[in-house]
Amino acid sequence: MSLLNLEQALANMLDRLPLPTTQEQISLDQSANRILAEDIFSPLNVPSFDNSAMDGYAVRVEDLAENNTLTVAGKSFAGNPFTQTMAKGQCVRIMTGAKVPAEANAVVMQEDTTVNADGSVTFNCQPKLNQNIRRVGEDIKQGALVLAKGSLLNVTTLPLLASLGIATVSVYPRLKVAILSTGDELVSVGKPLNEGQIYDTNRFAVRLMLEKLNCEIMDYGILPDDPELFEKTFTEAQRTADVLITSGGVSVGEADFTKDVLEKLGEIGFWKIAMKPGKPFAFGRLEKSWFFGLPGNPVSALVTFYQLVQPALLKLAGNTPEKIANFSPNLTAYTSEPLKKSVGRQDFQRGFFYENEQGQLVVKPIGKQGSHIFSAFNESNCFIVLEKDRGNVAVNEKVTIQPFNHLLK
Ligand code: AMP
Ligand code: MG
Repeated sequence: MSLLNLEQALANMLDRLPLPTTQEQISLDQSANRILAEDIFSPLNVPSFDNSAMDGYAVRVEDLAENNTLTVAGKSFAGNPFTQTMAKGQCVRIMTGAKVPAEANAVVMQEDTTVNADGSVTFNCQPKLNQNIRRVGEDIKQGALVLAKGSLLNVTTLPLLASLGIATVSVYPRLKVAILSTGDELVSVGKPLNEGQIYDTNRFAVRLMLEKLNCEIMDYGILPDDPELFEKTFTEAQRTADVLITSGGVSVGEADFTKDVLEKLGEIGFWKIAMKPGKPFAFGRLEKSWFFGLPGNPVSALVTFYQLVQPALLKLAGNTPEKIANFSPNLTAYTSEPLKKSVGRQDFQRGFFYENEQGQLVVKPIGKQGSHIFSAFNESNCFIVLEKDRGNVAVNEKVTIQPFNHLLK
C-alpha cells in the first residue's frame, strides 16, 4: 500500500462526510457551544434609538454658534428619556446610553462645561455635528445578517443574539460519538498492572478532546483483541452513535483485527498516511455510523485525532467551511535547534514557540519525538509541521508551526 498525503486523505474524507440534516429549536440559555442551523437576521436596529456616548449635555450645534450658554430643559437618563421638546437656546442634561432628544444634534461631555449659579450651562468649546451620538442602526441594521448558519454559539456570538432579544435558536444536534480502546495489554486506571500490561491512555485523550468539541460520548471501555467481541461491540455501538472511534489494532500485527472486522461490517478504507507520527489510520462507513480507527501509540492517536478526526467532526457537526479549513491555523517561526527529519513523511514534532527580543517567533523542539513518548506534550504549545519532502533542518531555518488550539489546552 502506498503512502497517502495527509492533505489528500483529509480532502477525501471531508468530501464524503455530509453536513447534518436535522436540527432542533432550543432556548438561547441552553445553546452554549452549539452550532447554529439557521442564518440569523437582526429583528432590530442596534442601537434601536439615538443615544449618548457620554455623560454631559445634548445640544443643537447651531445654538452654540450664537451663544455659548444654554438653559437646561430637563434630563435624559438611560431607561428614562426626556419626553418634552428642547427649544432653541436650551440643552438637556444627558447620561451615557440615554435617548438623545429629537431636536439635539450633538452631546458635549460634562468635562467641557461649567454649570452657572443660575443653573444655566456654559460650553467651553464648540461641538461638532453628531459628536458623541450613537446613531440608530450604527452597529447593526434591522434585517442585516448577524450570524451565518454554522456559527459556533460562544462568548463572542451568543451575547450578540441576546442583545437582539432572540430567545430561541435552531441548532444542529450534538454528535453522538462512541469510543473504545483495543488491546489485550490494556488496563483501566484504578486496576493493578500485571507483567506486560499498560494503562489505557488513548481513551482519556480522545474523551477530553471530544468534550471540547461538545460531543455526546458513549464510552465502551477496553476491548481485548478478540475479533468476535470486536464485531459484537462495533455492531452495537454504531446503532446509536453517529461516529465510532477506536484506537489500536489498525496496523499489520497478528493481533490487529480491526481491519478484518470492519471489512466484514462496513465499507472501510485503511490508509497509510505519509505523516509522522500517525501512519496507519482507518476511515469509513458502518451501517449506521462513520468510523475512525486511530493508531494505538498514544502520540499517534492524539495527532491523527487532531489532524484528521477533528476537522471531520467539525463537518459532521455542521460548522462552516471556513472553520473546518482553519481549525488550527499555521504560523512561521525560526527553529532554535536543528531538527532531525527524514524525507517521505510529513512530521508533526512537538515544540514550544515564543517571541524573542527582536519580536521574531522562535520554536524550540520539546523532548524526544518518538510516537510512544507522550510526556513531551505537556511542555509543548505547538506542532512543528515539517513538509514531506524536507530533510534535516538546520538551526535558525524557517519552519511552519501550528499552535495548539483549545483541544490541546
Ligand atoms: P497497536 O496499533 O494496537 O499495535 O498498538 C501500537 C502501540 O500502542 C502498542 O505499543 C500498544 O501497546 C500501544 N497502545 C495501543 N492502545 C493503547 C492505549 N489505549 N493506550 C496506551 N497505549 C496503547
Ligand atoms: Mg493492539
